[in-house]
Amino acid sequence: MLEELRGRRAIVTGGAAGIGLAIARQFHAAGMRVAIADLDAAAAGKAAAELGPEHMGIAIDVRERASVVQAFESVVQRFGGYDVLAANAGVSSMKLVVDLADADWDFNMDVNAKGIFLTNQAAVRHFLAENRKGVIVNTASLAGKWGAPWLAHYSASKFAVVGFTQALAREVAEHGIRVNCVCPGFVRTGMQSREVEWEASLRQMTPEAVVQDYINQTPMGRLEEPEDVAKTVLFLASDLAGFVTGEALNVTGGVRMD
Ligand code: NAD
Repeated sequence: MLEELRGRRAIVTGGAAGIGLAIARQFHAAGMRVAIADLDAAAAGKAAAELGPEHMGIAIDVRERASVVQAFESVVQRFGGYDVLAANAGVSSMKLVVDLADADWDFNMDVNAKGIFLTNQAAVRHFLAENRKGVIVNTASLAGKWGAPWLAHYSASKFAVVGFTQALAREVAEHGIRVNCVCPGFVRTGMQSREVEWEASLRQMTPEAVVQDYINQTPMGRLEEPEDVAKTVLFLASDLAGFVTGEALNVTGGVRMD
């Protein structure tokens, strides 16, 4: 059913760990060639090597235009171009707004929002130059639809991702380029482990009680796995979603915050 993906080339940012690594694995399983692009260049190289020699690992800092341009250019040189961008790199931290420093705000906005702008712009320029019907899937968050306490700076950056995705999708639809984003809930990754520790401290609970609270908020009764998100990204990247664009698709096991 996903046979048409075989041989397509993808860039996955933040692909060395967590959700990004699961996306890279799903793309590999579908027969795609994957460029794993991550701030942690060593981990990106290792992850790509584990998938196989047809894949590549590259260093990227999605906050920096020069880094994005150089990384994407290296993919063009190695793969001859690319068809799919999964813009997934992201960071979080948990603080009350009254305690937020400028640096907290800037860090979240730079990685999560500016990183989406820079990577999406580079991909769209490539697709247009090659006259290619490319696909972009951004990783937003349920916190991009609902303002999450202690995560105001993160929520603001993810609302930006949802708005940017909708706007860009409408701009490039006439060229056959599709742009969507996924909104995961409570996903079991390194980011979540760090958030559990922060939240336990802020709410004066044990980490185990915080995790149980996440599960209690999830109608499907378990924590989300990175693969749950990655399968949805694969769907959006495929022709099965050929008439889907500008969407922010929840992948949460039914968690709703509104
Ligand atoms: P993670 O921390 O496990 O992995 C993030 C990856 O991004 C790491 O490999 C890291 O090195 C990389 N990265 C960080 N800054 C970067 C930069 N400037 N340039 C390039 N790469 C960078 O996180 P995760 O949980 O897998 O999160 C992936 C995405 O999913 C993020 O956008 C996150 O906001 C989003 N998300 C996560 C959850 C969750 O519960 N874990 C929920 C909703 C949305």
